[in-house]
Amino acid sequence: MTAACFVPTTDVPADTAAAAERMHSFVCEDLQLDGVVLRWFRPETDAEVQEREAFYGLPPGHTLCFEMAVEEDAGGLPLRLGESGPLNGLYMRHRPNEVWLSASLSPDAAAHVTAHELSHAWQLQHYPEELQGARLRTFFEGLSEAYAAHAVKRLSALEEFEEAAV
Ligand SMILES: [Zn+2]
Repeated sequence: MTAACFVPTTDVPADTAAAAERMHSFVCEDLQLDGVVLRWFRPETDAEVQEREAFYGLPPGHTLCFEMAVEEDAGGLPLRLGESGPLNGLYMRHRPNEVWLSASLSPDAAAHVTAHELSHAWQLQHYPEELQGARLRTFFEGLSEAYAAHAVKRLSALEEFEEAAV
């Protein structure tokens, strides 16, 4: 598992950024979330991984990525994110006002991942912090997936309605 590099929004494909931004507006209103912004990342290149490992004196293959590193520290849990596929998005408790998205997502995937990650922000605000640990991870991931599927349907119905009304 590699870490991730910041990508400015201007470097994200325009249709992907636009789909994420539409979903961001929809979810922030739906869940009454304020001040949570979208940010973009790409995976590190092999050269960047080596540079980072050398800089921090880390053994090769060490995980240094956002909430995954936090979870490892918390109990040495196996990493779920990124193991079964590419890392699409991240929400980190220690950076509660940011949702991170992979810059390589398709527009549809970006919309889904935006809703999923923003619902983690909602969870952090509405569930006590002691429930946010690794033990209930599967529960919260399930909630986020259910909300994202729901939000994708509602937003597309809304957009169809608005197009028909024009
Ligand atoms: Zn999640």
